[in-house]
This record gives sequence, structure tokens and C-alpha cells, in this order.
Amino acid sequence: MAIGDLRIGLDDTDSADGLCTTWLGALLARRLRAAGCRVSECRLVRLNPNAPFRTRGNAAVCLDARGDPGDVFRLACSTVEEFAPLDAPMTNPGVVVTDQPLPVAWYRRAVTDLCTVDGALGVLEGAGALFRGYGNARGLIGASAAVAASFPDATFELLVYRERERWGTVRQVDAGSLFHAEGVTRPHTWDTVDTARGTTVCVPHTPDPVLFGIRGESPEWVARARALVSSEPAAFEECWRTNQGTDAHLVPGRCGHLLEGRSYIVAGTVATPPATGDGGHVTLRLDDRAAELRCMAYEPTKGFRDVVRSLRPGDRVVVCGSYRRGSLNLEKLRVVRVAVAASVRPPRCPSCGRRTTSDGRGRGWKCRACRTRTREPEVVIEERTVAPGWYEVPPSARRHLAKPLCRGPPRLPGR
Ligand code: ZN
Repeated sequence: MAIGDLRIGLDDTDSADGLCTTWLGALLARRLRAAGCRVSECRLVRLNPNAPFRTRGNAAVCLDARGDPGDVFRLACSTVEEFAPLDAPMTNPGVVVTDQPLPVAWYRRAVTDLCTVDGALGVLEGAGALFRGYGNARGLIGASAAVAASFPDATFELLVYRERERWGTVRQVDAGSLFHAEGVTRPHTWDTVDTARGTTVCVPHTPDPVLFGIRGESPEWVARARALVSSEPAAFEECWRTNQGTDAHLVPGRCGHLLEGRSYIVAGTVATPPATGDGGHVTLRLDDRAAELRCMAYEPTKGFRDVVRSLRPGDRVVVCGSYRRGSLNLEKLRVVRVAVAASVRPPRCPSCGRRTTSDGRGRGWKCRACRTRTREPEVVIEERTVAPGWYEVPPSARRHLAKPLCRGPPRLPGR
């Protein structure tokens, strides 16, 4: 093969004690440039967050580069072999290099559905790609999906990586500078901090090489925010184009027709009052004609649960989230129409004005003082606190793929 425009895909080079695929991808981009290849774009591709055996965050990467396919493939493989813990059972890297496009449908499947290694092999062989799978070769799924990816909507994340000798130590990033950076650049950047809780969000606590990451609408906005951050010296940084924050994982769904491990946007009507269970998890039941759907807002979604708790039977809503173990785990919801929330209670006695008590199921109410009976209950209209509109989980609970409301409501393909 001759020098040409190539796509290089990497996945599953993570290890429990630190390495992450974006770091290896950013390092490979530097090595390619040093070898004389032009690298025109680095993409961070998030895949189905519910896929079994997924890596943390289920991230794969793709580099667009110009070079000799054989040389690029050898450099990519040797970089993976140098750093990825190939003897770790949960680390099964995949490396793909191709000058031919892979079907976008394969990427769509990997972000919204479930894929197999055999499926990846079929796609790669069909395109005549160079590829290598290590271990059980599971990383070929993400590596091929990253190469196949096309983003109808995209955001950017500038990832800043640590100097090697600092890996595993406490990160030195000035929190005040992060709040300042978000204050200056929001809503063009997001999820740097959680202003409601007063905490930082963009600095990980895992032992990986990421110092912090700034998410935003364009390379210019994330660079502007990054320039305001004070921290320990960085080893290098890379601005990734990504499907994060685009709702790429959501597909339209209907109550009663959801599949395990997929993520949906579903319309429905609140069926029963929300219930708060052990640990502060809130359960919301929707129905749509005959079918019912259980939705969950877990404790880490914090104040979002107050919105869920304020819903009442009859409210029309649209919910977004992943369907796992029979529940839709809420990422955001839209209150479409607020119902009149009426409840009944024992009426006052029509004769003496005292509060009556039930005279037995279906038998009305009776005054204990004067023994007057009545069959008309008192109807109480609850004052509703929730207004129509979209509501979302806080930044600290947001999944990588979930589109923040500062970017607008979900817009699905074909809608
Ligand atoms: Zn009475």
C-alpha cells in the first residue's frame, strides 16, 4: 500500500491501575507526527455505556493521519505493546489501520446496541483493513467502531495529561481557577465544575494519566477555558473531537418495548406517585396505554430527584436514560404537561363542622360528634411546584454521552 489518508483506531488499552486509551492515542499522535505523518484529527468515541465487558467510560479513539499504512500499523502496534498491560485479563486491546471507510452503521450499532468480536472481524475483513486484536480481541469492537464513526453532532474535550512520575499521586489543580474558567466560558463549556454543589467535576480521582479535561462546543472555547486553569505542569495535551454530550446513545423507545442494555427516549404518563426508597433512590412509574415502565433516579443524581418527586399521576413526560435490569435510569426528563393533582380526604361534617371519619370502604363518612353521615368527600387540589420544561441530572452524575441541556434538548436522527 502507498502513502494515503488513513484512519487509526485503538480500544481497550486501559488497565485497572492507570492507563487509558485516550492517553495512548494522544501519545501515538505525537509519535506519528515525529515520524513525519500529518495527523489532522483526533477523535474520542464513546460507545454503548451499558455494553458488557466495557472499559471504564467505554472510550475508543480514532486518529486521522496521512502516511504509509504498514509503517503506521507497526508504530501503532508497538506503542500498544509497549504500554498496554497485555497480560491483564480485562485488557484486550484492538488496533485498526485502514485507508478504506468502514460502514457508519457499525458505529451506530456500537453506540446504541451490542456488538460481537465476530461482527468486528467481518467489518474489518470486508474493508481489507490492517488489524490486530490482543487477548480475546474484544478491543477490535471499539477500534473498528471508532474508525467507522461519523458524528452528526460533535463536541470537543481538551484532555491534559500528567507527567509520568506524578501518576498515582494527588492531582494539583487549583479549584478556584476551574470555577473561574467555567464562569467565563459557560455555556460554551460545561461539566468543569458543579456549581450547585460547589465541587469540581473535570479532575478524575482514578490513577490514570488524565490531569483534567475541559468539555465544550469548539476547540477555541475549550482552549480559552484551559488557559485559565492553574495546575501542576502537564506532560502534554490533546483536543479531541467527540460524540460526548450529543445523546448519540439514545434511540426512540416505547413503554413495554425496551431492550436490556440500550438507551432510550420515551414518552409516557406518570402512573403512580413517585416513591423514595432505601438509599434515597426515587422510583417513578410511567404508563403508555397498557404497558408500564419503571424509571429510577438514583441517589447520586441529587437535586434532580426533587424534580422526579414533584411529579404526580397524569403528568405527561418524556424520559431519557439507559434501560438496565428492568428500569430506565434517568439522565434527563421533560415535563410536557402538568396534570391537576387532586386528592380526596374526609369532609367536614355538614351539621357541626367537625372533621368526619370514614364509615367503611364505599360507605361514605360519618361525624363522630353528631353522627351525621355524608357521601361527598372533600377534594383537595395540590399546588404544583414543577413547571413544564427539561430537567437534567447534575454534572457530577452526567454520563459522557448525555447531552447537557445548555446545548439544547435531545434531537434524534429522523425526528
Ligand atoms: Zn357533626
